[in-house]
Amino acid sequence: MGEQIKYQSRGAYQDLYDESIRNPKGFWARQADLIHWHKPFDKVLDDSKPPFAAWYVGGQTNLCYNAVDRHLDQLGDKPALIYVSTEVDQEKTYTFRQLHQEVQIAAAMLQKMGVKKGDRVLIYMPMIPEATFAMLACARIGAIHSVVFGGFASHSLASRIDDAKPKVIVSADAGSRAGKVVAYKPLLDEAINKANHKPDNVLMVNRGLIAFDQVHGRDQDYTTLRKELANAKVPVTWLQATDTSYILYTSGTTGKPKGVQRDVGGYTVALAASMKYIFMGEAGKTFFATSDIGWVVGHSYIVYGPLVAGMATVMYEGLPIRPDAGIWWKIVQDYKVSVLFSAPTAVRVLKKQDPAYLSKYDLSSLKALFLAGEPLDETTSQWISSAIGKPIVDNYWQTETGWPILAVQRGIEEMPGKLGSPGVPVFGFNVNVLSEDTAQPCKVNEKGVVAIEGPLPPGCMQTVWGDDERFVKTYWSSFKTRQVYSTFDWGIRDEDGYFFILGRTDDVINVAGHRLGTREIEESISSHSAVAEVAVVGVADQVKGQVAVAFAILKSMDALDAAQSKTLEAEIMKVVDGQLGAVARPARVYFVNVLPKTRSGKLLRRSIQAVCEGRDPGDMTTIEDPTALEQIKASMN
Ligand code: ATP
Ligand code: MG
Repeated sequence: MGEQIKYQSRGAYQDLYDESIRNPKGFWARQADLIHWHKPFDKVLDDSKPPFAAWYVGGQTNLCYNAVDRHLDQLGDKPALIYVSTEVDQEKTYTFRQLHQEVQIAAAMLQKMGVKKGDRVLIYMPMIPEATFAMLACARIGAIHSVVFGGFASHSLASRIDDAKPKVIVSADAGSRAGKVVAYKPLLDEAINKANHKPDNVLMVNRGLIAFDQVHGRDQDYTTLRKELANAKVPVTWLQATDTSYILYTSGTTGKPKGVQRDVGGYTVALAASMKYIFMGEAGKTFFATSDIGWVVGHSYIVYGPLVAGMATVMYEGLPIRPDAGIWWKIVQDYKVSVLFSAPTAVRVLKKQDPAYLSKYDLSSLKALFLAGEPLDETTSQWISSAIGKPIVDNYWQTETGWPILAVQRGIEEMPGKLGSPGVPVFGFNVNVLSEDTAQPCKVNEKGVVAIEGPLPPGCMQTVWGDDERFVKTYWSSFKTRQVYSTFDWGIRDEDGYFFILGRTDDVINVAGHRLGTREIEESISSHSAVAEVAVVGVADQVKGQVAVAFAILKSMDALDAAQSKTLEAEIMKVVDGQLGAVARPARVYFVNVLPKTRSGKLLRRSIQAVCEGRDPGDMTTIEDPTALEQIKASMN
């Protein structure tokens, strides 16, 4: 594929990576030994119908078996699932043996409701242990789960019900956020009413948080069934490696959600390999991902990844700053967390709090903090790294890939990180920066589209649920001359082979003929010491075509008067002038208290842009805080 970039002094990584690209079949055949196979595969890879890739054809295995049963001998009495809720003040630890029993009970409930291999089960749940039991129970019996983020409104939920067509929905009466009850059941009932497809049954976990109506004959009570099935033994259903494990809808930052469909065997192997080589996972230790089971990080690194690796996993229901900003670090101390995984957005929240909380607890068990999901600006990265004194490992991936595409892979060898970079290609991913026009690799430090050569490695999406054509059209048709997977992110690769992500391909603005990534401008503005967080969008301008407009949240909560705002705005503009040049200077910098984000913490730049241009922001069901857009509007007056 054109010029090869030399990685300097990274022997072990380089060897492993090179082999994974040169000889993917040999490489992945070897990685397959990381998991248990009921029946060995006949063929490592069938890529006879590109861009589709079928891994471990003919092999039989089971994700739940690998996550739970396989550890019973060695780790049966060791913690597997650690539930911590600062919302309802509860902590509970399940050993692998206890988890094994709970999963069998949940599996028996699903079977009792007629769920069979290949049936879909939609899980609409808060962060409680039953959610994990339900996911593993599906995996155990070969039902396909589709977890929908709890707290999505009825409209989003209804469209996912119609797409996945679940036989059963598992839900709960309510979640809790910042101490306030968030009712789920009424939303669920509304969604089922709206949807054309109707589930046979709804399995309800009643947490006693709200009173709710039961639909007779349809709704079943988890506690009642649990008692009835307390000693259930449900053997693992051995599945084809290529069977579907789950559907997960993308977070919808850029449009209509797509049902990402994942397999069984490839996913299990990819997770096992990532736990070893990227996350430095060790059986018997504790992993804590602060995400939610509704997102891909929750699937791969709250539930499946750590358990497959024999680690205890923390399931945390609560905010990072409640009861105070020390809560994560207290969990790290109390449960001797060795790997912590979070998102830059959460770290920016901490940045606004008293830094003393970060040095209050014993963090000696912690090896590193992994961050993913959006660009990690240098300032935030430096701040958190010096505050906790641990390595920060930025890693870049997508719901579609299921596990990291780019990362500094410390499980292979001690590799240096670079500020602002999520690192180098992960083994298995033949990833490159391609010119938009020629589909050929860009030169060093030249901007292009981050793209992956097919076949995608194990663990990545198989197709769009129910729509092969959309899979090919959406992801594999960006370049006219050849079929390559597009990430729809801009990036560059430097002389050492490190990648830098410059934002999404649709987040580019064109100022008087200059194409600028909004991310670059955001990075520059973030380097001003007063700024905690910022969003930059391109707004239509009669003269220049588009201009950059910035919305910033300041570290200090004190309101600015008009004169102070003006001064600060001018200062920020000067920073951008100095770093990127006057062409990138935002036309205006507005100050707000909150930015519109999806519930997974991703900036809704498109909606901000629409508001700035006086257009309708469109479907807002995924927005975290609806008042955020009003603030944007108000700040401009
Ligand atoms: P949708 O695809 O529905 O629009 P989404 O892209 O926000 O939603 P995800 O799959 O959760 O849904 O997010 C993946 C995207 O997040 C990447 O394509 C990239 O834009 C961004 N991203 C993830 N990790 C990083 C990172 N470490 N650095 C920079 N950007 C990142
Ligand atoms: Mg995406």
